[in-house]
Parts: sequence; structure tokens; C-alpha cells
Amino acid sequence: MNLILMGLPGAGKGTQAEKINEKYNIPHISTGDMFRLAIKEGTNLGKKAKEYMDLGELVPDEVTIGIVRERLSKADCQNGFLLDGFPRTIAQAEALQELLIDMNQSIDYVVHVDVPEEKLVERLTGRRICPTCGATYHTIYNPPEKEGICDKDGSRLIQRDDDKPDTVKKRLAVNIEQTKPLLDFYQDKGYLVAVNGDRDIDRVFEDIQSKIAK
Ligand SMILES: [Zn+2]
Repeated sequence: MNLILMGLPGAGKGTQAEKINEKYNIPHISTGDMFRLAIKEGTNLGKKAKEYMDLGELVPDEVTIGIVRERLSKADCQNGFLLDGFPRTIAQAEALQELLIDMNQSIDYVVHVDVPEEKLVERLTGRRICPTCGATYHTIYNPPEKEGICDKDGSRLIQRDDDKPDTVKKRLAVNIEQTKPLLDFYQDKGYLVAVNGDRDIDRVFEDIQSKIAK
């Protein structure tokens, strides 16, 4: 089973990726892991990618797609793969199509874990951190016993700048703009299955399983 997983920050993509990985025995391949592995193994493409990254530059698509090819050729991908964070652009999506044809493969499904934006804002802005012991809480999903106070040491909890509403909304807007054309691209190809991610983790996973069983 060859899958691509899509979803905005806070949609619970990572959790679903773990479940898919366990159930279908296909590796969860995130872009970051893929680059780290290529660099660690010292492949030619890994070395090239590192040069760009060391300069703080974007790794060009031809290098990235080469690294994807190396990764998908590994033994652990014989049952398939779960790509996460790649492709990010239409150019990459088109390159992936060609690469898969060349490898005599194709995508089975693009699973979109869909959560309404306002829910994502709620999820992403609720995190609170204890500056003393580092414990993390969530105002809705994992609240401390006493509002705003660490259960362990009584410190006043703080909200990181990254978790403040304005920052979160900006980050989501950028992501939505990047993701939209890709969703359309895969919709047109007939690969896209949307799953309502605004439910508990197991329900979401059940839905994914039933939709990719077809
Ligand atoms: Zn604490």
C-alpha cells in the first residue's frame, strides 16, 4: 500500500501515521527523516543536500526527488510506504508521479486528515508549559488541576510565543495556501480520500482503514 498523508499542523497526522505504520507494516517516511538518513549514510545525494542545508538554502527538487527514490527503493518499502511532508509542491508531486511510474509503482491513496481551522487554532493555542519543571498541559485536553498552575510544583504556567493565536493563525494560513493546490492535484487524479479528523483518535483511524480498504 503506497500512501501519502496530508493534514495541517495540529490535525493529528503524526498519531495516525504511527497507527498506519503498525497496522499495515509500511514505514512512515517524513521528509526530515529521509534527509537525515541520506546524510548519515553519506550518499552522493545526501552530501549534496547537506551542502544546501549548511548554507541555509532550499534543497533543489532534483536532489530531493533523488533522495525519495533512494528511500523508496529500500527493503522496508516492499509492502509500501507512507509519505509525510512530501510532496510539498505541484512540481514535486509531478516528479513523484514520474518517479513511481519509473519504479513500476503508483500511489494508492492520499489520505487527508481534515480538521476545521478553528479547531486547529483551539488545539494549537491551548498548550501551556511549566517554566520550572517543563511539564506540558493543554487547557482543554490535558488541563492542570488548578487553572494556570503546575500540578507538580505550583509554578505559574506559560504560553510559548509559538503557541499564541496570531502566530498560530499565520502558520496555518501559510500551510493552507501551500496545501490547497496539492489537494486539488490529487483530487483530480482520484487518489484523495478525506477523513474527518475532528474526532477521537481511534474513530479517525477506523475511518482511514475503511476508506483505504476499498
Ligand atoms: Zn512544574
